[in-house]
Amino acid sequence: MSSSVAIPAPASSGDHPHQSVAVVRGQRVIVECPAWCTERHAEHDELCLEDVAHVGDQAAVSAPVGVTSREDILAGHISQWTYTGETRPVFAFDATGSGEFSELSKVQARAELDRIAAHVERLRRVVDAMPDA
Ligand SMILES: [Zn+2]
Repeated sequence: MSSSVAIPAPASSGDHPHQSVAVVRGQRVIVECPAWCTERHAEHDELCLEDVAHVGDQAAVSAPVGVTSREDILAGHISQWTYTGETRPVFAFDATGSGEFSELSKVQARAELDRIAAHVERLRRVVDAMPDA
C-alpha cells in the first residue's frame, strides 16, 4: 500500500509551478515543481526529501576530441535543491564536459555565455583566414 503526502514548496519555486510525484524511501510524495523543472522525480527513490532536486532540460554541444572522438561540452541546465533551503535556482554549467558543474547565477551565466559567444566569433575569424582547400 502506498500513500501520498503533499509537501508544500517554498514560495520562490517558480511562477507557474506544477505538481509531480517524487519517491522518498518508497513513499510517494507530491512535490511542487517550478515551471522549468522537467525532472521525472518518480524515477528515483531518494533517501530523504533534501535529495529531491528540481532539474531543467540540459543543453550541450558536442565537439571533436582527438582524431575520432567527440565529447559534449558547454553543457548546462537549471537546478534547484529546494528542500535543502536553496531559495533560488542556479545554472549548472559544465564548460569542458568533465562532469564538474559550476553553479552560476543568471547574471553570471549570461556573462560567461557572452564571453564564449565572443570567443566563437574570434575562432570564426581564425578559420576564415585559412585558405580554401
Ligand atoms: Zn521538480
